[in-house]
Amino acid sequence: MIPSVLPTYNRAPFAVDRGEGSWLWMEDGRRFLDLGAGIAVNALGHAHPALVEALTAQAGKLWHVSNLYQIPAQQALADRLVEETFADTVFFTNSGTEACELAVKMARKYWDDKGADRKVILAFEGSFHGRSSAGIAAAGSEKMTAGFGPLLPGFRHLPWGDHDALRAAMAEPDVGAVLIEPVQGEGGIRPLPDQCLKGLRDLCDEHGVLLILDEVQCGVGRTGRLFAHEWAGVTPDIMMVAKGIGGGFPLGAVLATEEAASGMGKGTHGSTYGGNPLACAVGLKVMEIVADDAFLSDVRRKAGTLRQALEGLVASHPDVFEGVRGSGLMLGLKCRVPNTDVLTRAYDEGVLVVPAADNVLRLLPALTISEEEIAEGVARLDRAAGALKADAA
Ligand SMILES: *Cc1c(COP(=O)(O)O)cnc(C)c1O
Repeated sequence: MIPSVLPTYNRAPFAVDRGEGSWLWMEDGRRFLDLGAGIAVNALGHAHPALVEALTAQAGKLWHVSNLYQIPAQQALADRLVEETFADTVFFTNSGTEACELAVKMARKYWDDKGADRKVILAFEGSFHGRSSAGIAAAGSEKMTAGFGPLLPGFRHLPWGDHDALRAAMAEPDVGAVLIEPVQGEGGIRPLPDQCLKGLRDLCDEHGVLLILDEVQCGVGRTGRLFAHEWAGVTPDIMMVAKGIGGGFPLGAVLATEEAASGMGKGTHGSTYGGNPLACAVGLKVMEIVADDAFLSDVRRKAGTLRQALEGLVASHPDVFEGVRGSGLMLGLKCRVPNTDVLTRAYDEGVLVVPAADNVLRLLPALTISEEEIAEGVARLDRAAGALKADAA
């Protein structure tokens, strides 16, 4: 008999009851250190007092009103994002997938308005852009697309890190946009080197191609800058944001330059819930906390601590781990044994990490994690790796 919850997830054998900061309590009373933060969603940890306050204050005032009317919380969050980033304009969604949908529509409409036949979007192997028909077509991996065809046409896929293939593909006259994650998340924490992102921006300028960055996982302070592309000193034309921006409340956004958004006039796009008062009140509070130099430099310092501790962990268990990679508090442990074996042991030790492709375990802790919690988390992973070896012996 099919379970009452559609069984599309391979769920861990514990049920989460409540959370506080970087800790989760299970229904059976066990306490876990959460180094996954809902896959980079709980940017400020669980039940952050300022977010609880922002949400409950808004909940007592106004939950929902149609986008037919002006929504002050939405306006305030859009103004803040425009102030802090390259963007001139913002559309709010409820998820990263919906942000992908709009980014694709925006790029196509841009070229349609110009009367140019440039509907092809370049994307990269190992990428992840969500689970909608456009999202799976954009990512293109067999694992996500098998059985769901016919796929949305208009995407061309390139190998990760093949500069010659990219240069050739960009020169094709039907290419209108390129879509890439500055740090691949689901693909196994693969950062795009700064000079590659710079080179990509130059290629886009040379060929008049729109650069769409998917910062759904790597954005909102995750890499120690407000957005990951800031490290390379370049800006996109369109950017997808979600996950951390809502701090756990469903919220996504598409940010764009005035030029890239020029096709999106009245009636071209919409959303019932996108930009609702609850989500935007929380998102504004997240931005107030994260878009702050002192907060971000603290993230960078803690990222250094975590990375160093993980290098030590790899050195202690060279038969379990191969290396550390990533940026800021978006780190991956490449495993030598199946990552799911390490994951099971980590659960036994009361620490949550998240599997990714390429046999990687992701660490995406709350940006508010303390130095002590970092040490505790790595100690638990050390015990997990030790237990694995003891079993194998
Ligand atoms: C999670 C994710 C998405 C999809 O976001 P949802 O909110 O799950 O729809 C898209 N792109 C990237 C890079 C992601 O990590």
